[in-house]
Amino acid sequence: MENDQQETKTMLLTITTTHSPATDLGYLLYKHPDRVQSFELNFGQAHVFYPEAKPERCTAALLLDINPVGLVRGRGMSTFALEPYVNDRPYVASSFMSVAISQVYGTALSGICKTRPELAQTAIPLEAKFTALPCRGGEAMLRKLFEPLGYAVTIECYLLDETFPAWGESTYYTVTLCHTIRLTDLLSHLYVLIPVLDDEKHYYVGSDEVEKLLRHGEGWLASHPAKELITARYLKHQHSLKREALARLVEDSPRIDEESDEHDAEEAKIEERVSLHQQRLGAVLSVLKNSGAQRVLDLGCGEGRLLSMLLQEPQFTSILGIDVSIHALEIASEKLRLDRLPPKQRERIQIAQGSLMYRDARLKGFDAAAVVEVIEHLDPPRLAAFERVLFEFAHPTMAVITTPNAEYNVMWESLPAGRFRHRDHRFEWTRAEFQTWASGIAERFGYQVRFLPIGPEDLQVGSPSQMAIFDIVATENV
Ligand code: SAH
Repeated sequence: MENDQQETKTMLLTITTTHSPATDLGYLLYKHPDRVQSFELNFGQAHVFYPEAKPERCTAALLLDINPVGLVRGRGMSTFALEPYVNDRPYVASSFMSVAISQVYGTALSGICKTRPELAQTAIPLEAKFTALPCRGGEAMLRKLFEPLGYAVTIECYLLDETFPAWGESTYYTVTLCHTIRLTDLLSHLYVLIPVLDDEKHYYVGSDEVEKLLRHGEGWLASHPAKELITARYLKHQHSLKREALARLVEDSPRIDEESDEHDAEEAKIEERVSLHQQRLGAVLSVLKNSGAQRVLDLGCGEGRLLSMLLQEPQFTSILGIDVSIHALEIASEKLRLDRLPPKQRERIQIAQGSLMYRDARLKGFDAAAVVEVIEHLDPPRLAAFERVLFEFAHPTMAVITTPNAEYNVMWESLPAGRFRHRDHRFEWTRAEFQTWASGIAERFGYQVRFLPIGPEDLQVGSPSQMAIFDIVATENV
């Protein structure tokens, strides 16, 4: 330990892009390519500089100077903060690198870039290179952690024992990770996996570490084949924390339909899980019930959540769910136990595959149609086709359409600015945009429309979801 405290260690992470213009990396990282910037961290200093900054290739270097002497002397840290360092292994370079990533590249880590918002959300060619990265488990471990995430991994191995006796007998590697990926994802992977590689953390691991792991593991950890190992190592083998993290991960893990289910889970998480969706379905159900409708359509019914609520209401004598995804319909069929319903119930409900882009005779003759969180999945140029399919050809007496209110997105801290709630969303509208669109429809197809908010309403930005209710205008009044 004494030895450790006398050493000053450095650790280097470079991030390179060949995305053109490559110097945009400076915007993404919020660090100007022409300057060297230094940051005081509680374990030493971090320096950011650009060894190369050309339009075709740009590299940002993050160099850590870890100063264990400063650490132990406190340098402005409270004794409380010090305690874990002293009681635990004195320092471990790799988890300091994670801390540095979150403190020096924090905005990029969270996917925010005010000046280049689209670029922050775009997969670009990136290369991350570590010099002297400690890794327990060697090459195999490096590959096991990074390859499932799509990285091409290059490893040079060397032992540093003589140079750094304090670091014991561990093996150190120079590791290069290449991938076409969003910078925020690269940084999240590094943030979580670097300390996992080292299998030690320099601070006490408490339950807030579970939150950090889940936050930075969002969207990839649940489906990572080594998620158990990652979770155990990240949480320093504290079994209760590991169990908690894994239990919560399962909620987000892909069920059967890899892609879309994963994204649904993400959206549900952003929308504070089931509650908003339940409110939305409840609102739609009550509007449908109030309308007196008996024959109802659920267009883009997905896994049948609304269908099962409709089925419980005897008022609805004929229910038809339509979705383009066979897989979603299979789940719906299972959830609704269609093959086990008593015949009287079974007669009331049908589900069928169909696209809302095509005129469909099966949709005719219904009193009401619900289109819940579907339009934002349609390409804007094709919305006009959907409008005709529903309002001109199917022509129900009334229709309810819900869609996210984009203005509300600022209320969710976990949702970076400019990003949609679900990766498959083609757009998210403000209240004014939705109302303009819906009013145009009402006018063109002979309906009247009113709007209702769904979810808690904020004075400035409105409610998280919005609903338009269309009622057909009796022909003689048109
Ligand atoms: N209404 C459901 C599902 C919403 S998710 C609910 O609220 O739980 C959006 C659904 O729209 C998905 O199930 C997707 O398969 C479906 N969808 C997307 N494009 C479609 C299209 N062109 N035609 C029919 N369904 C479509």
